[in-house]
Amino acid sequence: MGFFGRGRGKGKGRKGPRRPSARRGRGRSFRRCRFCADPNLEIDYKNVHMLRTFLTERYKIVSSRQSRVCVWHQRKLNIAIRRARMMALLPFTISNRLPPDVLG
Ligand SMILES: [Zn+2]
Repeated sequence: MGFFGRGRGKGKGRKGPRRPSARRGRGRSFRRCRFCADPNLEIDYKNVHMLRTFLTERYKIVSSRQSRVCVWHQRKLNIAIRRARMMALLPFTISNRLPPDVLG
């Protein structure tokens, strides 16, 4: 008759399906981000063409899960994209209300 009080009731583990052994692929699953893989590749706010690949067609930033960029580089990308927006190199998100001829 101990009073245990259910100590572990609160912190539920993560829900959802478990992936069956995702790490067994032989070399084919490159999960590294492209900046870590290529040290010559720099994140620069002036390199709009490169930044554009991390933006959706509405110029929203692609999430790191989709772009497969690590957290560290994703943060640098965010800063670079924000800076490019401030310099008017990149637009902010395109709103729906604009008439199509504004978009060019
Ligand atoms: Zn990286």
